[in-house]
Amino acid sequence: MSSNLFIPPWAEQVAEQLGTGPHVVVTGISPSGNIHAGNLREVLVAEAVANALKARGLEVRFVFHADTIDPLRKIAPGIPADYKSYIGHSLSRVPDPEGCHDSYAEHFLSPFEETLKRMEMHVEVLRSHELYEDGFYTEVTREAIEHTEALRRILQEVSGREMPKHWSPYLPRAGSGQVVGARVLEHLPGENKVVFADEDGWEEVADYGRGEGKLGWRVELAARWKALGATFEPFGKDHTSRGGSTDTADRMAEEVFRYPVPGRYEYEWIQIKGKGAMSSSKGIVLLPQEMLEIMPPDALRRLILGRDPARALDLDLGAGFPRFMDEYRAEVEPYPVPFAHLVTVAQTVGGEPEKAAVMLRRGGYEEAASDLAELRRDLAYARNWAEKWAPESYRFGVREEVPLEVANLDAEQRTYLAAVAGRLEDGMDGEATQDLLYSTAVELGLKPKTAFGALYTTLLGKKSGPKAGSFVAGLDTDFVRERFRHVSGLTTAGEVED
Ligand SMILES: [Zn+2]
Repeated sequence: MSSNLFIPPWAEQVAEQLGTGPHVVVTGISPSGNIHAGNLREVLVAEAVANALKARGLEVRFVFHADTIDPLRKIAPGIPADYKSYIGHSLSRVPDPEGCHDSYAEHFLSPFEETLKRMEMHVEVLRSHELYEDGFYTEVTREAIEHTEALRRILQEVSGREMPKHWSPYLPRAGSGQVVGARVLEHLPGENKVVFADEDGWEEVADYGRGEGKLGWRVELAARWKALGATFEPFGKDHTSRGGSTDTADRMAEEVFRYPVPGRYEYEWIQIKGKGAMSSSKGIVLLPQEMLEIMPPDALRRLILGRDPARALDLDLGAGFPRFMDEYRAEVEPYPVPFAHLVTVAQTVGGEPEKAAVMLRRGGYEEAASDLAELRRDLAYARNWAEKWAPESYRFGVREEVPLEVANLDAEQRTYLAAVAGRLEDGMDGEATQDLLYSTAVELGLKPKTAFGALYTTLLGKKSGPKAGSFVAGLDTDFVRERFRHVSGLTTAGEVED
């Protein structure tokens, strides 16, 4: 199944309501901090709807509108405190706090754009400061300024707040670099200019055809629908609450810009299990690029969207992740290896796909062992997960030396190890090995937990471990036999008996 053709049922329903187009699907984000997995949800909602429209044979343009001209509102966690002096300046004109990109906006936008490329998303990324500078917003800006009174009335009616006497839909950039706080005095429509008074009362001129300022963001929302010809845009609940930005933009679009309100989908937020709603300003974030280290792009799509993006999602990359991966792979692969077993294999053989293939074959996963390139990729996902997200119970390493913990094994456990060493044969698969390990325990009157505890202790230095049959079957048989024999011959004091 190709990534770009996966169309969930809810997206199909949305597409059905949208008409025949041509369509412009828009999504927008202000790169004022880390663009996180919650933001990705919005882009993925838009992508799914765009795909659903394309699948209907309709003409679709899919646009990611990065609000790079937006003013810096607050200092994100990890940003130097002296950036306070840039508050009110366009993100595209604030320096990169780490010095690696051209601007503050690019510092956060660029890794996200890279992620969209890695996900093979067919989306046009537009930067709002470039759109303003190129004159793309000149017409709608003129229209907005000419309808200042009507726009002000809508804002007041919807928000219930009195707007300042000199309120203007246009925010010219003052000499200080601030795009907020200036007072527009006069409109020169023939020249695309406004005359304004800056904070100190000096009169200046701004050319709105060349990006010397921007529309206030509620007005801009409606204006950009018209300028882009938007027919669909998803919104989070922060925008769609009563009196919120979509309420004002809807009326501005219809009453001032004479443009029909685009189709809409309201998505819910993503929480990180045990931490709360994702938020850049609170530092509670999961970055899509780190999530691509443990799963392929299509899995990330499904994880982030969930069954229904109109519902809140509790994201669990810890104990719950193997089950998600198993459900996903059951849908897309004919012979999926359980993720937990891949984690076992990855931690046993490291990054060597040839050795992993041997272990998988012994464990009974013949198919998964055939494509080494795919196996190398899957091992990397499993290993990265084990290192960064797995609960302690999933983490282990086969000890090269006999673990000191074997001193705790009792005589019955040692007898069990000796018996298993005598019966284990080359070429036994996971199931046969599991039977052998289990029936030997029963024969000796040992509880399985006690018996298996002996083999985990002997191999891993831990009382518990991965599913024993496929794990032991995957190891070199000589190594296991020798280790078990050696440990069975040790006394509880750790010395070899005569
Ligand atoms: Zn940077």
